[in-house]
Amino acid sequence: MKLLLHICCAPCSTEVIERLKGDYDVTGFFYNPNIHPRREYGFRLKELERFSKKAGFPFITGDYDLKRWFRLVRGLEKEPEGGRRCEVCFRMRLEETAREAAAAGFDVFTTTLTISPHKDAETINSIGRELEEEYGVRFLVADFKKKDGFKRSVEHSRRHGLRRQDYCGCVYSRLERRRQAGRVR
Ligand code: SF4
Repeated sequence: MKLLLHICCAPCSTEVIERLKGDYDVTGFFYNPNIHPRREYGFRLKELERFSKKAGFPFITGDYDLKRWFRLVRGLEKEPEGGRRCEVCFRMRLEETAREAAAAGFDVFTTTLTISPHKDAETINSIGRELEEEYGVRFLVADFKKKDGFKRSVEHSRRHGLRRQDYCGCVYSRLERRRQAGRVR
């Protein structure tokens, strides 16, 4: 079974790849127009290139469609992490994964996003199921944070020398982290 895995970043992909590789022929899909600024996007992409070579799996890169991302989240700038802006952000990334999976003949698609303790697996899985109907490619329902998934991803990242970023990805999550650290008011 050929599976297209949406990857948000290399550290989160480590444990997910480990769990999936026995049952699926996995190809990664780096599609994250939410990431800000551009140099951070470039950094996360390079880290994935490095890790995919080490771990031996291929991946495809989607467009860095930042303008479209900002258009979709307009009006939701002040939402807290885990709120409505995140739902829109999940849907955008999952929809492009479903579209790519259908176009390239994959049997299944899923995402690394549920490994994060900050992300609600139920919301992500329900978006995935809707897209399964729409695009005709099976969505693998999962909650990768279960069974110590996140903790294990931190351990793998350390072993592979992958840097874990301290914010989710978008400009608003970055500002929030800086505010929490007392660097901006
Ligand atoms: S906090 Fe993360 S999931 Fe939510 S909108 Fe920003 S980048 Fe997307």
